[in-house]
Amino acid sequence: MDRGELLYEGKAKQVYATPDPDLLIQHFKDDATAFNAKKRGTIVDKGILNNRMSEVLFRFLEEEGVPTHFVRRLSERDMLIRRCEIVKVEVVARNIIAGSLAKRLGRAEGEPLPEPILEHFYKDDALDDPMINDWHIRFLRLATPQELSAINETALRVNALLREYLDKRGIVLVDMKLEFGRHHGKILLADEICPDTCRFWDKGTGEKLDKDRFRRDLGGVEDAYQEAARRICSAAA
Ligand code: C5P
Repeated sequence: MDRGELLYEGKAKQVYATPDPDLLIQHFKDDATAFNAKKRGTIVDKGILNNRMSEVLFRFLEEEGVPTHFVRRLSERDMLIRRCEIVKVEVVARNIIAGSLAKRLGRAEGEPLPEPILEHFYKDDALDDPMINDWHIRFLRLATPQELSAINETALRVNALLREYLDKRGIVLVDMKLEFGRHHGKILLADEICPDTCRFWDKGTGEKLDKDRFRRDLGGVEDAYQEAARRICSAAA
């Protein structure tokens, strides 16, 4: 499938048209940004690894009955996806306190949550993606109440499925950000699932295998992405 017109360029990905109006190509770059692009850098081969990890995880979720935008991986950095209208609500699912939740609640990172927490953020770079609730979502008409219910239900299911999948591969799913899209009236899981969008900690040592190594200048960023990919793409231990 040939890449057509460049339709969108984000911090880590590009999206291209294809000859089929229902399909797009998602291209994964090595560019890394953090803190709403205030920090910029490159993670060597990140695009290749994120494309591969997203493929494996989308396939797994599809097999479990979760509708996603994934069609197939086309090449090292390109993935064929269903065209959808992205819902401007980013959903964060959390299992362990970390990152902005630790700051907001004044709690230590690493404290397990008795049950998952879902949070919603308005996908708007100019506003720095502020946290919002159901009322804001309704007021801004970002999603209908029915769509929001479907999104929340799917987010919790994806979280439970991925937690188990990753646990079998020695990875703790601390938290993750999910995006959804509308496709012919149906809500699909969209975007990517990788160490850019999830916090992955080694089950034994707690070592970070995700983008926090870049955000926090911890070093060993490429090795962490390679290790996450090796485990995610392997059979269960
Ligand atoms: O920073 P925070 O703790 O809110 O991040 C929660 C989760 O969402 C993390 O896994 C992080 O990688 C992801 N995230 C993201 N894109 C953002 C903000 C957070 O993928 N813009």
